Amino acid sequence: MSALVTGAGSGIGEAIALRLAKDGLAVAVNDLRADAAERVAQGIREAGGTAHAVAADVSDTTAVAKMVAEVRSVLGDPAILVNNAGHAHQAPFLEIAPEEFDRIFAVHVRGTFLVTRACLPAMLKAGTGVVVNIASQLGQIGGVDLVHYAGAKAAIIGMTKSLAREVSTRGVRVNAVAPGPINTPLVAALSEEWKTAKRAQLPLGRFGEPEEVAGVVSFLTSPEAALFVGQTLGPNSGDVML
Ligand code: NAD
Repeated sequence: MSALVTGAGSGIGEAIALRLAKDGLAVAVNDLRADAAERVAQGIREAGGTAHAVAADVSDTTAVAKMVAEVRSVLGDPAILVNNAGHAHQAPFLEIAPEEFDRIFAVHVRGTFLVTRACLPAMLKAGTGVVVNIASQLGQIGGVDLVHYAGAKAAIIGMTKSLAREVSTRGVRVNAVAPGPINTPLVAALSEEWKTAKRAQLPLGRFGEPEEVAGVVSFLTSPEAALFVGQTLGPNSGDVML
């Protein structure tokens, strides 16, 4: 059985790819950066797993179609899809350039739409499949200087619920994971001021590690998660309690 993880050349996506490979899945490792995807795929193979690196920009319709066709021919149709690719950008609302707003929505929202759209037909045909969308707790509570990012992540939560309602009776479970701050290059790039203030707010007093998010994704892909449909799970150090 195979899984496709987007943005798996770094951080949370890399940890998810490694974890799903350990779970016994053949993993398609996507990233915008071919070298990063290949590094992670190579690591999985060296550990005895099966992996195939596939570079593509998830916001590009043609590239996504090509990527999914390649994954299908090498590993078979993905039974599991993790929409993880993303980037962050911080700016006060009035300083967000329309181009930056569009790029955030293109990668996170359009990317999730395009890759799911390419993988879903095979899942529906098989009558089984799991989609996990990586949102963010900022999509639940918002964040200063993050209107575009938080807006895109809120959109992903809405898309998750709607698609889950549409396809759950046909064997495909769709859920989201909304992490709090996790130690990855994406968070390292945020301002020190933001990180210090954020850490102080967390009941747990620390940021999470990528592996701690990967464990949640692994659970959602497992048969134990059979009753989880359209949910948003929050590995967030206690920052958001729903
Ligand atoms: P990261 O920067 O370490 O990894 C993101 C990866 O996605 C990179 O390798 C990058 O090249 C790839 N990528 C970016 N745009 C892409 C595109 N258009 N097509 C394909 N690949 C692309 O970041 P991360 O922290 O691991 O973030 C992973 C996901 O988790 C993102 O969706 C992010 O928004 C989300 N998230 C992160 C945190 C956090 O605190 N780190 C918290 C909540 C949600």
